[in-house]
Amino acid sequence: MYSLDDTIAAISTPIGQGGIGIVRLSGPEALAIARKLFVPARGELADGFVSHRLYYGHIVAPRSGRIVDEVLLCYMRAPCTYTRQDVVEIDAHGGIVALREILSLCLESGARLAHEGEFTLRAFLNGRIDLAQAEAVLDIVTARTESALRIAMQQLGGHLSRRIREIRARLLDLLAYLEASVDFPEDELPPHEVEADLLLAEGELAELLRQAERGMIYRQGVRTAIVGRPNVGKSSLLNRLLHTERAIVTPIPGTTRDTLEETIALEGIPFVLIDTAGISETQDTIERLGVERSRAALHGADLALVVVDGSQPPDEADFQVAALAATRPTIVVVNKSDLPPASDYATLLPEAEHIAVSALSGAGIPALEKLLVETVFSGQIALSDEPLVSNPRHREILRRAREHILEAYRARQEGRTTDLLAIDVTEAVNALGEITGETASEELLERIFANFCIGK
Ligand code: GDP
Repeated sequence: MYSLDDTIAAISTPIGQGGIGIVRLSGPEALAIARKLFVPARGELADGFVSHRLYYGHIVAPRSGRIVDEVLLCYMRAPCTYTRQDVVEIDAHGGIVALREILSLCLESGARLAHEGEFTLRAFLNGRIDLAQAEAVLDIVTARTESALRIAMQQLGGHLSRRIREIRARLLDLLAYLEASVDFPEDELPPHEVEADLLLAEGELAELLRQAERGMIYRQGVRTAIVGRPNVGKSSLLNRLLHTERAIVTPIPGTTRDTLEETIALEGIPFVLIDTAGISETQDTIERLGVERSRAALHGADLALVVVDGSQPPDEADFQVAALAATRPTIVVVNKSDLPPASDYATLLPEAEHIAVSALSGAGIPALEKLLVETVFSGQIALSDEPLVSNPRHREILRRAREHILEAYRARQEGRTTDLLAIDVTEAVNALGEITGETASEELLERIFANFCIGK
């Protein structure tokens, strides 16, 4: 997978019908392969292929002479390409049959089928982008909201990488000093503020970690379970939330068979609404199922909306569901406010926020949306202040690096030997290198690029 000598090929557009579809080639033989298959519409090209120019013509099967598709072909000469290798893109008609045929002709003519993410891997191996930027490419493809996309674009632009490199470079300076002071007594060396350096690095890592908490929300969404006994209005509420003007709905498939999931974005924050409604219910098991399904929906939820029917007094099932939900932040949604209230439900989770809504009329829904956003950010964080870190892998590394820095700081304060301190600083430096890829192992690279799709 790490060889750069062969030429790889893949369909780079999604499988399915589309206006156009692209077969991409990268490697030393890209142009030679394209020449075997492509017949320009205007006969021979006088000056060969000029780089970064579109050519109109046909893909013709070399052996049979059969025309496969009418295409536009672009040859991009190294190094000004995505992979820094010679790249050829063939823009064909979007049908999967033609694309597959063009791809197999490329393979017959000397290309190898690309692995997942191998084009981006080549860009990384050739030094065009670092690892954090390569991961940003994946995030851009999978971004669910505009905010997630903006964070990924920043990462692709190298903002995170620059911060990490700065911190790492200063730690390397410190390390050089520590290693020198193992060999020479400290008073023979220029003075160096070891504690201050460690504290500075610690502070910066802590700040990035704080941002990561928020970044994770932008990326993965707040898993919000809508629970309650049958007929309180859960599916009506879900539909209401999905169809309000402020919500941008992103369909994603449910993760389990017993729950439905829909993503809405409120002020750029994705909320993954998890609901158990719409699953067929038999009359005799309905009450039991209400509690069971609430349990299923609550599994792994960050936030719970306990829906109750305000026109009826609370019953045993309401308290059971509330008890299940209460181990996480919870909002009690007292629904059907358009009907005469039967009870104020104050005894149900008195600690939690209560809000009256009518899923039927829409009353109270904007206030509920506001509350959802506030619950996540406790109303304190300015949304324009977008985090640099949104990747769980990066967060884990930052945590690890910070631990080592704290350990080094403690060692220094306790007057332990310099070589012990140097070990922790080295660990921190190596950890940070795993974000940008300077110290990433092949195994780690394989794990990261396996998440890409073929053709990216
Ligand atoms: P679920 O079983 O909890 O998902 O409840 P549904 O959303 O299916 O609603 C059950 C019944 O309550 C339906 O007949 C709804 O039309 C009705 N309903 C839901 N929300 C409201 C509301 O805010 N006001 C009134 N009056 N009826 C509602």
